[in-house]
Amino acid sequence: MAKQNLDFTPKLTRFNPVRLSDAENRFLLTHLGKPAIMGVRTIKGEINPESRFRMPGQKRDQDPTIYPEGVIPASVRPILDGVMELEELQRFGELKWVGIEAIRKAIEIWFREKTKWANMHKRNPTFPRWPSLYSWDAKGTPHRGGVGADSGEVKTWFDEKGNRVPFAIDLLEIEDAVEPFLPPTRDELQSDDRFYEDPTTNRFECRVKDAEGNICGHTESYDSGSRRSRSLAKTRMRRHLKTAKDEVAQHREVYSLEFGSN
Ligand SMILES: [Zn+2]
Repeated sequence: MAKQNLDFTPKLTRFNPVRLSDAENRFLLTHLGKPAIMGVRTIKGEINPESRFRMPGQKRDQDPTIYPEGVIPASVRPILDGVMELEELQRFGELKWVGIEAIRKAIEIWFREKTKWANMHKRNPTFPRWPSLYSWDAKGTPHRGGVGADSGEVKTWFDEKGNRVPFAIDLLEIEDAVEPFLPPTRDELQSDDRFYEDPTTNRFECRVKDAEGNICGHTESYDSGSRRSRSLAKTRMRRHLKTAKDEVAQHREVYSLEFGSN
């Protein structure tokens, strides 16, 4: 699979509901697919009363308007515009995009997971309010900021198998393309750079470094284009990570990043 090769970049290529207020997400559910001017004119703004009283020595507000309903035009307008642009470009056959329904779905998933987490936290205050900021061990104990956890902001939710799924979505349709090499899976794209795959030499390399910066350098090769051979090589790497005698903690860490904690 490969990204479309476009010789231009549309304004909007990714959508992340986490970055918007609830009111903004609801606004989008109502107005997606309409010209921005139609949606934005429904937003109520008023003059911030505090901005009328200028404090000595302070700059005047650039924009003294506040939006009491929580929808800021500057954050939703680019999305409405971007969607219109994607629709136009698709109509003229310039690209394929995932469509308005996919954005709606991303918003609905965000609301669903957020509500679920809030309820779990309410029932059991030791359950984290934002569980994806934690890593979860085999006993189900959360560790804030542990291996694999979202850092800084909420980025993922957990599907029914416990896999992390990003809330943000790519808007450009991914096309199947004929490629000489096996496509990496989603997990591999997120993989740790100490677990390195070199597709030109058909091998996996262990790039765990010791304190002096020496790379472990363990490699496992596979036959070009053979899914089975590649998967066997990966299994051998897995064994290496589990049994390496040097830099044991680091090898274990790469192991759990690549293969989970069990
Ligand atoms: Zn190694």
